[in-house]
Amino acid sequence: MEKIRLGKTDMMITRLGFGSIPIQRVSEDAAIAVIRRCLQLGRSFIDTANAYTTSEERIGKVISGRREGLILATKSQSRTSEGIARHLQQSLKQLGVESIDLYQFHGVSDFDAYAKILDPDGPMAVVQEAKRAGVVKHIGVTSHSIDVAKELVKSGRFETIMFPFNFIAYEPAEELLSLVRERDMGFIAMKPLAGGMLDNVTVALKYLLQFPDVAPILGVEKVHEIEEATRVLEGPQALTAAEQKEMERLRQELGKTFCRRCDYCQPCTEGVPISTVMTFPSLAKRLPPQRLFSGHWAEVIEKAANCNQCGECEERCPYGLPIREIVEENFNLYQAGKRKYQEQVASS
Ligand code: SF4
Ligand code: SF4
Repeated sequence: MEKIRLGKTDMMITRLGFGSIPIQRVSEDAAIAVIRRCLQLGRSFIDTANAYTTSEERIGKVISGRREGLILATKSQSRTSEGIARHLQQSLKQLGVESIDLYQFHGVSDFDAYAKILDPDGPMAVVQEAKRAGVVKHIGVTSHSIDVAKELVKSGRFETIMFPFNFIAYEPAEELLSLVRERDMGFIAMKPLAGGMLDNVTVALKYLLQFPDVAPILGVEKVHEIEEATRVLEGPQALTAAEQKEMERLRQELGKTFCRRCDYCQPCTEGVPISTVMTFPSLAKRLPPQRLFSGHWAEVIEKAANCNQCGECEERCPYGLPIREIVEENFNLYQAGKRKYQEQVASS
């Protein structure tokens, strides 16, 4: 499989990485089959996270005894030095490895998180110490906010950045990618299928393949999905005229509702976690129902009930999204899903 250089890390990674959010919602056997097939097809760049529940452990089971040649990336959402030290140890244990090739600060999408991770006595110091000890080979960061991402890149403290990039959310193709190139950083594109909104894998991947130094990671939960993506990579990579037309059509259609999770619409005086509720269908595709309809996620999404339809968020959204309408629609979807899930639990 074609490989590209991941910026100044100098690591050569497969053109398409394996995103491991979805494998936490399928059975362990199904997850293991997907990871195995991914490795068989030569996809050796694997991205996971401490936050993806069973994902690291499942990957660890498959790669046991065959670490060589794999590029493993994981991440932590912790903003404290104690938390990140604990997460790093957990990741090593769950993956069953002695070192992590790329350790990323997960979801740094506001300036408060930015300041916390770069505090001289904070998480960055812990990860740099781990790098000196050889436990971490390279340091990266992930973000959803273009303004924060630009500052993260300019800070010079990271070797890679992971950011959502697809033909609907194509803003990174402008300034962010240029900044990344100027600093010889690696660019990892998350959400190549727009968080599950795009099912035309061919068009979605071919769009990203136009950027020779961008490494998309594709989250998959079924063997046939990896096989389909591999066929795209092995075939002609240029978009045909018909595919270009389809891409424009989808852009027009989905661009009106696609939330970039940038949070420019915040603060909501009623505490509605707008971007989370806006992307609920994507979340529902990735998380197992027991996680979605109880505990942390349920608590967060149910705040949508507080929306008083004031509309202030819509004035702040740079993409002109009809937030009130989508929040209401997604909250209804959530409630219907929860009822169904509770009925299933009661009858089992
Ligand atoms: S609703 Fe608009 S402003 Fe809010 S997170 Fe989504 S894209 Fe950004
Ligand atoms: S419309 Fe709803 S979500 Fe938007 S700011 Fe007002 S209360 Fe918050």
